[in-house]
Amino acid sequence: MSPHDEYEVTVVGGGSAGVAAALAASRQGARTLLIERQQLLGGMGTNAMVHTFCGLFHPDVSQGPQWLNPGIPTELGTALMQRGGMEEPDLMGRVYVLRHRPADLASLTAELCAAEPHLTVLTGAEVTALSPGWTITLNDRLIHSRAVIDTTGDALLARLLGHSHWDLATSARLYRPAYVWSFQGLSAILDEPLRLHVAALIVRAVKAGALPAAALGTTLRASPTRGEVFVSTDLEAGGDHWDPLDLDQRLHLESEGRALAQAVWDFLRSSHPSFTTITPPVLPVHAGIRESARWRGDYVLSADDLIRSRRFEDEAALAGWPLEMRETARGPRFRYFDQPEPAGIPASCLRARSLPGMFFAGRCLSCDHEALASVRVMGTCLATGQAAGQMAAAFRP
Ligand SMILES: Cc1cc2nc3c(=O)[nH]c(=O)nc-3n(C[C@H](O)[C@H](O)[C@H](O)COP(=O)(O)OP(=O)(O)OC[C@H]3O[C@@H](n4cnc5c(N)ncnc54)[C@H](O)[C@@H]3O)c2cc1C
Repeated sequence: MSPHDEYEVTVVGGGSAGVAAALAASRQGARTLLIERQQLLGGMGTNAMVHTFCGLFHPDVSQGPQWLNPGIPTELGTALMQRGGMEEPDLMGRVYVLRHRPADLASLTAELCAAEPHLTVLTGAEVTALSPGWTITLNDRLIHSRAVIDTTGDALLARLLGHSHWDLATSARLYRPAYVWSFQGLSAILDEPLRLHVAALIVRAVKAGALPAAALGTTLRASPTRGEVFVSTDLEAGGDHWDPLDLDQRLHLESEGRALAQAVWDFLRSSHPSFTTITPPVLPVHAGIRESARWRGDYVLSADDLIRSRRFEDEAALAGWPLEMRETARGPRFRYFDQPEPAGIPASCLRARSLPGMFFAGRCLSCDHEALASVRVMGTCLATGQAAGQMAAAFRP
């Protein structure tokens, strides 16, 4: 890259939304740059070890699994199922979900991007400044771009532009972060009775002081690979003082998560015969952040829009996942749509009239705190990312 590079579309953030945006823009023929600060693409689905895609399927499960959004969400979901050796997604209560291996998501997203001749991917590169027009500062380089898409999850570009462009829920309401890690070598099938038995053992150990209180609510889920298990714990993270944009708090979260993983791993190995042969914990690159800053776009999608399955004239994508609220570390509170019908996400949630050429998608799109409980899931992020990529490619000043 030369010190001043010109692109038609620049996507900042290579998670589900960013990868879909970059693929969609480049497939329209736009010279596209995707910038990701971590080494691997995939965002939370890779680096925080989130291992289940939600929001990929129609909310009416009575007809079996039906893909909700055509294009990249269907393409990537199908490819992940093939890599995981799965014929069907899992029906969990009233919704279909797709389990995946984070390593599969990382390799698949890298391969899909590498196959696009108009797309350049820069990993290990962090955007630090932005000026309208648009010029992006990336380490010691300047990138000029006709259109820019913010898929950082944290609305980073809105925050660089000023306070009028973004919102953040109060600390007490923010969906809790979580720490996810994995191990291999479980010698039994992780079925429901074993999961419940382990949950009860953990509760007893917390009561006896053998595990920290933060371990309460730890859940185990089998990966598509036999013997591999993902372990997740929601964290209070300072409760009423939690600020996901504060670096010190993020660092504290990492050390709390690592210590907890070690303690739970030690406990599992010594408390049940099926766990004596498990491998040491595989830790994530970073803890999982469910909610931080959101863009304020031309329209702010509300929980009511979703619950009533509202449709829009300028519809860009469909949402079908229930509102999964996690305002405490004690587990989710679900609110389902009134009817098993999808809701629309309008294009006006992915742009702001006052900022021509700026688009946003994924978990930092323009919605309220309650609506985020649904649209933040990765299947929906793929769909809004795809829509933002198409809009950015078509943008002319
Ligand atoms: C613990 C946990 C469990 C979850 N469980 C599920 C689940 O079961 N199913 C589901 O579908 N969803 C789940 N989610 C939600 C889902 O993982 C996220 O909401 C989704 O991944 C958001 O996608 P995104 O692309 O918007 O953002 P992210 O995945 O957060 O990606 C944003 C990317 O931007 C990059 N970035 C940020 N700043 C910069 C910068 N300055 N320069 C360059 N790059 C930058 C980041 O490194 C990151 O890769 C869960 C989330 C968490 C935290």
